[in-house]
Parts: sequence; structure tokens; C-alpha cells
Amino acid sequence: MTSLAAGLSALQVRFWGVRGSVPACGPRFERYGGNTPCVEIRCNDRLVVVDAGTGLVALGVELGPDAPATIDILLSHLHLDHVGGLPFFRPALMADRFVRLHCGNLRGETAEVALDRLFSPPLFPVSLAQLPGSFEHVGFKAGDPLRLDDGLEVRTIPLNHPGGATGYRFDHGGRAICYISDIEHEEPWPPPDLASFVAGSDLVIYDGMFSETEYLRCRGWGHSTWEKGVALCEAAGVTSLAIFHLHPQHDDEYLARLDAEMGARMPGAFLAREGQILTYPADD
Ligand SMILES: [Zn+2]
Ligand SMILES: [Zn+2]
Repeated sequence: MTSLAAGLSALQVRFWGVRGSVPACGPRFERYGGNTPCVEIRCNDRLVVVDAGTGLVALGVELGPDAPATIDILLSHLHLDHVGGLPFFRPALMADRFVRLHCGNLRGETAEVALDRLFSPPLFPVSLAQLPGSFEHVGFKAGDPLRLDDGLEVRTIPLNHPGGATGYRFDHGGRAICYISDIEHEEPWPPPDLASFVAGSDLVIYDGMFSETEYLRCRGWGHSTWEKGVALCEAAGVTSLAIFHLHPQHDDEYLARLDAEMGARMPGAFLAREGQILTYPADD
């Protein structure tokens, strides 16, 4: 396998699921999409997947028979909306494919134990280990960097969320993308460690599930607002912000108004849309 460090390649993001908590179905949700979190990150032709919500199913279909032999999936945490797509991921159903699941050891219990509990009768007919593909579970401490087997380094940061969650930063070819979901903001905001984690990145993907008014009723649920995403980016000098983990009851009409409002407040802020692809050419 070649080292990615030497490549002058683009960093690319593709959103397969942008909805939080539970999928949203029907014509009112077509524009922004209804699948739960799944983001594809490409460094050159190297694929890394962040979160395994229902959006992972369509990614597996798209990869089809050409899916890489080994696929790394980085989980922010184990809540259902971030893992529900796993047993329906096509490469997991192919005998010669290998899925490596990375998850911060958030509560002392490993992801393998927790996922075995979820994917077992009577909640689910089979365990992940019983699927034709092979799974490997890799635990780490949120805050420590991950070094994937071909030298791609990914930084991590613990996030304030019930049970904990992990944020990720991908650096490649002089470009950087951060994935900060699920998170509840704190006072004062933003915390300096988070601001320095995202500083200098080309894009911050941020949990903006609630409006500021909704947040007042949902304090402690583990999510944030687009305004806090803007404040984070302004403190960190980041000019591009994708609001993510969209509320399952916010339909296209509501979100289109919100998109315009956000864009007026911060020109580089927008709502992530399922199917959207963003490409960042390498600095050279
Ligand atoms: Zn979530
Ligand atoms: Zn969560």
C-alpha cells in the first residue's frame, strides 16, 4: 500500500445522510434528504467513512462490487442514528470484504460489546460477526490521533454529548475537514481546545439540529444550533460551515428559509444536503 503523505490529491466530502436522531421520509424532505449521519471522505482514491447511519446503505449500493477490500468506518459514537446502517452496508454482506470500525472507548465498554447487544435477537436477527463480511473493532481514546494502516493520520477530540462522542479532523494535501457531531455547546462558547482543533480547516461539519428557540426546550439532549457553529468558525477563522444532524421535523420549506438566513449571517455557512459533494484541491 502506498503512503498517502506523498500524494498531492484532493480532499473530498460526500454527504450520504445529514438527518439527526431518526430518518425523515416523504416529499417534504427530498431536497435536504432524510437519511441519518453518514459522510464519505476521500483522500485521493482512499475512502474513509464517518458514521454508519442509514445513509451508509446507499453508499454501499454505490460502491457495489468495486468496494475496496478494506473499509475504515469512524464512528462518532454508538447512538442508533449513527450505527443503524451497519448490517445493511453492502460490503458487510460480501465474504471477501473487511470493515474496520473505529470508535472511541466512551464509557469503558467497547463498541464491539455494545454493538453485539444491539445487533442480536430479539432486537436484530444476527450479530455483525455473523454477516458474510469481516469486522474488526478498533478502540481508541478520544483526543488521541488515529493512524490508519496506510499512514493517513486523523485527529480526534472528545465532544460534549450524553455518553460522549468523538469529533474528527482529516488533513491531507494541505487541506482539512472537521466533523463535529454530535455536540452540545457549553458556556463560554466556543471552548479554546475546540476552536484550535478546527482552526485552519477548509470546512467544519457541525451539529446544528436546533434553532436557538428549540434549544431552550431541549437543553441537555446533546445537540447545538447553527449560531453556535458560526461562533465556533468565527473564533477559529474558518470560513466554510456545513450545518449537519438536521432535525427530523424540519422540512425542506423550513430549511430553505434557514439556509438563506444562515448565508446572510455567514456567507460560507450552508445546510448539508444528502448527495452533496465538496472537493478541495491539494495545495501545491
Ligand atoms: Zn445523532
Ligand atoms: Zn448522539
